[in-house]
Amino acid sequence: MALLVRGRTRCVVCDRVVEDSDAAIALPAFVRDRTSELFRFSDGILHTACLETDSLAQRAARLAQETIDRLGPGSRSCEVCGEEVRDPDDYLTLGFLSDEAGSPASSLNWLQFHRSHLHLWEHLQAAIETLESLSVDKGWCEEDTVALVRELRSHAW
Ligand SMILES: [Zn+2]
Ligand SMILES: [Zn+2]
Repeated sequence: MALLVRGRTRCVVCDRVVEDSDAAIALPAFVRDRTSELFRFSDGILHTACLETDSLAQRAARLAQETIDRLGPGSRSCEVCGEEVRDPDDYLTLGFLSDEAGSPASSLNWLQFHRSHLHLWEHLQAAIETLESLSVDKGWCEEDTVALVRELRSHAW
């Protein structure tokens, strides 16, 4: 979660410093796609007043909340077997990738797995290819996306 330092941190909507007297909220790092118009909200701080007047910020806040709801403990069901993933060490999620209409990545949003079942997932190879093509073509060079692809690859054989 982004760190708010009052008198220093800038609002991602209006770019003004968040002062002591300002109501503000912090969004989690929930967007992998650096090219998305939502990316600047990921791990961002914004004035509550700016959230109320900016429709893109509202979309970002909705998707951040949806990400938290979908991936929180108790709602972690494995895409392969349908069972709940209870062991954090056996848990892997693709997270939120994109809400761009028609993007192949948007079909992968919020998928969750038992790590130990990934090799059984019928779409594993296609998912790896999608993530790789996005990181090459669209500049998704986030380190954690690179690490995610590496992890998926390790289950692909
Ligand atoms: Zn603001
Ligand atoms: Zn499973």
